[in-house]
Amino acid sequence: MGGPGPDTVRDMRALITGIAGQDGSYLAGQLAMAGYEVYGMLRGQRHPKAEWLQELVPELHLVQGDLLDQSSLINVLKETEPQVIFNLGALTYVGMSWQQPALMTEVTGLGVLRLLEAIRMINPDIRLVHASSSEQFGSSAPPQDETTRFWPRSPYGVAKLMAHHTVVNYRESYGMFASTAIMFNHTSPRRGLEFVERKITNTVAWIHAGRHTQLRLGNLDSYRDWGWAPDYVKGLRLIAEHSDPDDFVLATGEMHSVRELVQKVFDWHKLPVEQFLVHDPALERPADVEALCGNYGKAERLLGWQPTLRFEQIVEELTVHDWQVLA
Ligand code: NAP
Repeated sequence: MGGPGPDTVRDMRALITGIAGQDGSYLAGQLAMAGYEVYGMLRGQRHPKAEWLQELVPELHLVQGDLLDQSSLINVLKETEPQVIFNLGALTYVGMSWQQPALMTEVTGLGVLRLLEAIRMINPDIRLVHASSSEQFGSSAPPQDETTRFWPRSPYGVAKLMAHHTVVNYRESYGMFASTAIMFNHTSPRRGLEFVERKITNTVAWIHAGRHTQLRLGNLDSYRDWGWAPDYVKGLRLIAEHSDPDDFVLATGEMHSVRELVQKVFDWHKLPVEQFLVHDPALERPADVEALCGNYGKAERLLGWQPTLRFEQIVEELTVHDWQVLA
């Protein structure tokens, strides 16, 4: 298999798409610490997070490109000459995917096809690690692993599955080093407030501060496997440095309901959940995923990867963070 192996990561050049997202910023920091030269691709003319990123990871080089624009990807690859690309760029909010399904498919589904074509054209030895998602499993019963049937339940899940199959197809068709990390939900204080765990920890902090009166949520009985984002980006690096391209589930192996998460956060604030929680049917999705819980045995066996933080600690980290920001 072409490209650099695990002993040659020093002086490696990595390109990250989706650099301004939760995972991109953590990954840039970890790669810089490990000795990589790191490039991050930002879209738009003047990205609001460019300055923040540059302060966070001073060694980071920022370049402009968009997964919707094939020529911009070719130019970015020519300019940065990466040996490894981490494709994290995507529209990532499941709820939004019902409102703009075609845009979701263009960016999240077709984006990686454009990137793979650019890699094939510029340098087929570039390694690619692509961020796949547990949403691809949808209605398949847990625990889910790399052999579980995919059965997505949203335009986001369908777009992610298309991207996943495209990566596997290019690996098999052209012998490219193209891997996927099938990541289950992972979070941190850098996760957007539209995602349910951040919405809960942030809104309850505001209720505690007397600035909000309600927490409105849709389905409380969906079960998810929540992990800690820095653990997952470490997994992405290990996948890039592994001897062979492959698909790996990254998860914690535990699942908890949204209801349980809500209760824990209200308990931490010593507030009565029944006084503030409002079930809002308008927030329910046309189709939902009931239960996701990953088996990360393959990543543990082949990469030595394990999650370090579990549900209880993660909820506490987020709750304390969102309260300290307000207090
Ligand atoms: P995120 O915070 O939403 O970041 C996604 C990034 O993609 C954003 O910085 C966004 O740029 C960028 N992007 C959007 N459209 C783009 C385009 N047309 N061209 C280039 N970049 C574009 O997501 P994340 O949580 O870091 O997740 C990283 C990856 O892992 C995503 O592919 C996601 O689907 C996947 N994943 C995440 C989870 C999770 O629980 N976090 C679980 C499974 C899989 P702007 O800043 O300009 O909007």
